[in-house]
Amino acid sequence: MDSLNQIFWIGQKLYIMKVFLPIIIGFLILFIGLLAIFALSFWWRHYRLWHLGKDENRFDQVATRVKTLLAVMFAHIRFWKELYPGTMHFLIFWGAILIFLGKIVRLFSYPVGLTNPPQNIFKSASFISEVGGILAIIGGCMAVYRRYIIKPSRLETKSDRTLIFIWGFVLLMTGYLIKGYRIAVVGVNIPSDWISWTPVSYLFSRFFLILPTAPLNELLIWHRVLIHAIPAFLFFAYVFITRNPLQHFFLSPINVYFRNLKLKGVLLPIPNFEEAETFGVREISEFTWKQLLDLEACTNCGRCQDVCPAHLSQKPLSPRRMTQNLKEHLWREGPKLLATPIEQRQPEAIMETTVGEDELWACTACMACEEACPVYIEQIVRNIDLRRYLVLVETKYSSEVRLTLKNLEKSNNPWGVSRGVRTEWTKGLGVKTFSEVTDPEILFWVGCCGSYDARNQKVATSMVKILQACEVRFGILGNEEGCCGDPARRIGNEYLFQTTAEANIKILKGYGVKKILTLCPHCFHILKNEYPQLGGEFQVIHHTQFLTELLTSGKLKPTKPINKVITYHDSCYLGRANQIFEAPRKILHSIPGLKLIEMKRHHHRSFCCGAGGGRMWMEEHIGTRINQMRTDQAIEVKAEWVGTACPYCLTMLGDGIKEKGKAETMAAYDLSELVEQSI
Ligand code: SF4
Ligand code: SF4
Repeated sequence: MDSLNQIFWIGQKLYIMKVFLPIIIGFLILFIGLLAIFALSFWWRHYRLWHLGKDENRFDQVATRVKTLLAVMFAHIRFWKELYPGTMHFLIFWGAILIFLGKIVRLFSYPVGLTNPPQNIFKSASFISEVGGILAIIGGCMAVYRRYIIKPSRLETKSDRTLIFIWGFVLLMTGYLIKGYRIAVVGVNIPSDWISWTPVSYLFSRFFLILPTAPLNELLIWHRVLIHAIPAFLFFAYVFITRNPLQHFFLSPINVYFRNLKLKGVLLPIPNFEEAETFGVREISEFTWKQLLDLEACTNCGRCQDVCPAHLSQKPLSPRRMTQNLKEHLWREGPKLLATPIEQRQPEAIMETTVGEDELWACTACMACEEACPVYIEQIVRNIDLRRYLVLVETKYSSEVRLTLKNLEKSNNPWGVSRGVRTEWTKGLGVKTFSEVTDPEILFWVGCCGSYDARNQKVATSMVKILQACEVRFGILGNEEGCCGDPARRIGNEYLFQTTAEANIKILKGYGVKKILTLCPHCFHILKNEYPQLGGEFQVIHHTQFLTELLTSGKLKPTKPINKVITYHDSCYLGRANQIFEAPRKILHSIPGLKLIEMKRHHHRSFCCGAGGGRMWMEEHIGTRINQMRTDQAIEVKAEWVGTACPYCLTMLGDGIKEKGKAETMAAYDLSELVEQSI
């Protein structure tokens, strides 16, 4: 009896092998073929293009990179800022992963005899695929509803996306239909617990009940191959070979891995500046390989566009569109460049064909786009590279930029006011220069706004009074202080920035300065994060951090109540760039009577005042004024006062309040002014 069973068992195996072996072999051939197509296409269509770009080292900190990649891919940490699209993408992603895992396990279960009777591993794989399919269908329906019914303006729907949706749904449905048909024809032979492992396919099987039951035969298997497996392979071949939106599933993770691990918004010097023959980026191959990868990895999701102050104020800039246009440029120009010997190449100039000047100059370098991007596309460095070419090579810029640069060159401040009157504001305050102070603790870097702008001189004065009240031994550089270099660098004049910064570093080192206190987040950012590139290593602290330290140590005690409702405007270069969000709020909470309310966009999602990226020195000729939009957001929450910690923001919001006709009921203050009022 035993040997009879054994013979029967072997016979059964042989039958399974006879039926499935050609399928498995066919699958393996297709699978290997697909991998080969993928590798070839990846090298031909992507890798070669990226190699047109310049070198850039993004191969450090492997552990951090892997950690971020896993967190972004599997936990979708960058997607949850928006619940609907986040959930939608999460469901589609995990649905696809589960389907794929289940399929592989099931396929290899046949030849190793895990299917007859079905073993737990086979049944679990089947269940995983069933669940994956449902997740993908729900996520897919959400995507279709959003893209074709809600139609948010940030989404661009071309025919290839529609094709992918239809193809994807067909694959999911045929998967269930085939399994359902199998269940229907096997009928009563299905073990009862099997149904619970294939709940969805079981439901589909009910549609086939009208069919006469027939034994499961090869015909069904070949049907399955024809209507499900081959379309699936063709789908993947299409995704790998053509340029289509679904390629983000392998391009975006690569981009996430190679993401910028430095602080956002930090610009780097032009390499070999003295010997370089050209500066910035004129043509596509002058970007780095990572910047070219960025272009291809952009998913066209439009999250950046939705938060961009330039776009929202009707300027001709959308970071999404600019990235997509540059991608098209790369796809058009890249293959031509690769096919032409270097000496015969005549590449298109990006600014002549792909990016408009108004578009480029509209950027406030606020980093909102980079904060929102789920796959870490870097916009700001790319924009500044394009500006560097216009400014340093073509000398092509507006008359306002021309005047600002001239003022910076001539007088070392953007207004062009004589350097000799830089310390006029200190009259009667008893402020000493750094060299006059015995054992100074800190250098107070006043900045151009604090030195020359009447409104911001009041802020500098408040800060001095607080420092004096707390008996801090501080000094200023006086007339030796120059512009920190932020406007020149963000405008694209790297030469002017470097000469300015080097002169400042020399003076600071000459006085043995170790610790610097700044009022302005732009001075703070550049002194702290960009001067080290030129050998200027100092301990730099923003006044909100310093005031918080004084509060914590008990030296500073705001006691006089200020009974006002205030909203705090996070400056881009204090918040998004340097992650200083809580110190300003601690200061506001320390003032008795002051009630803090947040605007809709705060902390990381704060809305730019419109003055960053050198825009402080340019007029807004197109669309709504960004400062007015931000003022509207403060009005919306019924704030009486707007608190800031940045001279640019203070100016812009002060102007916004006046322009909106709210000067009677609203006012903008720097936090140091509020502290001074309260002590
Ligand atoms: S940095 Fe700001 S202004 Fe510039 S593209 Fe990004 S979001 Fe828009
Ligand atoms: S840059 Fe980022 S946020 Fe903007 S469209 Fe591309 S992937 Fe989306």
